[in-house]
Amino acid sequence: MSNKKRVLITGAAGFLGSHLCDRFIAEGYDVVGMDNLITGDLKNIEHLFKLEQFEFYHHDVSKFIHVPGKLDYILHFASPASPIDYLKIPIQTLKVGSLGIHNCLGLARVKNARVLIASTSEVYGDPMVHPQTEEYWGNVNPVGPRGVYDEAKRFQEAMTMAYHTFHGLETRIVRIFNTYGPRMRLNDGRVLPAFIGQALRGEDLTMFGDGSQTRSFCYVSDLVEGIYRLLMSDYAQPVNIGNPDEITIREFGEEIIKLTGTHQKLISKPLPKDDPKQRKPDITKAKEILGWEPKVNRAEGLKITYDYFRSLSPEELNKTAHRFD
Ligand code: UDP
Repeated sequence: MSNKKRVLITGAAGFLGSHLCDRFIAEGYDVVGMDNLITGDLKNIEHLFKLEQFEFYHHDVSKFIHVPGKLDYILHFASPASPIDYLKIPIQTLKVGSLGIHNCLGLARVKNARVLIASTSEVYGDPMVHPQTEEYWGNVNPVGPRGVYDEAKRFQEAMTMAYHTFHGLETRIVRIFNTYGPRMRLNDGRVLPAFIGQALRGEDLTMFGDGSQTRSFCYVSDLVEGIYRLLMSDYAQPVNIGNPDEITIREFGEEIIKLTGTHQKLISKPLPKDDPKQRKPDITKAKEILGWEPKVNRAEGLKITYDYFRSLSPEELNKTAHRFD
């Protein structure tokens, strides 16, 4: 058997999953990608199919997972991850975070693999502590529209920690804050693809509420570096990975207008229920434990992302409907 390390990445055809596949291939790993393609897209990993280090399983991880051969690492990144997506497919969102992680953890025990799970700043809900530290327990409405995602991710953390303490499994938990970059789905409803897509189509930019809510946007290569370092570390408690450069959604919209040179304007739409008012990671732990901090500033990251969206075909640009409508 080869000495090369072998990693299973669930959600491999998604935005983050596909960038992780690229990173592990570049590091010399054999990569097994898995995705049910509900929100993922094969075009994100098309370039990997010709490589012998890459294989792909079209499979739903909330069903029993069978992967022949050894596995050194399992990264669980399968999940719808935008508010619009999990409003449209709430049950799948709950299942991939609960049944899906249970299957991954079971597989990890059999293979003696280390598991890293993609958790989220949504575990903090609409936070009463700012910036959010890992010690904050959160302010989540379990029965609100975001509850299906937030509670699935909270359950996923609890399940992962239980396998760590009860079975002694090696586990890592990354709490991911808003991340952006090429391969985001143009129609996923998130603010960045929404604004850039609108600017490119010559539509007004739909700002929800008065735009005073804040977010802190991390460029994808920074996030991937943080995840890689966390996986290689020996730290089993949750770690925030995100860019602490906080901005209001109104200012963000103005930045996109400037970047794209659109003559359209920001228009206000109703604020969705339970939309967090502020979000910014405290990254002290990531700095101290992983020696990590973001390197790509918003101006650089937005430029690369805009160039990616601009390179899409008019058909893709006009595709606003969801596949599961
Ligand atoms: N938002 C907006 N216009 C849009 C989409 C989103 O103003 O067309 C706002 C949304 O209400 C939220 C922020 O942008 O306050 C970030 O939304 P996103 O869906 O990207 O992620 P979230 O951080 O809320 O999960």
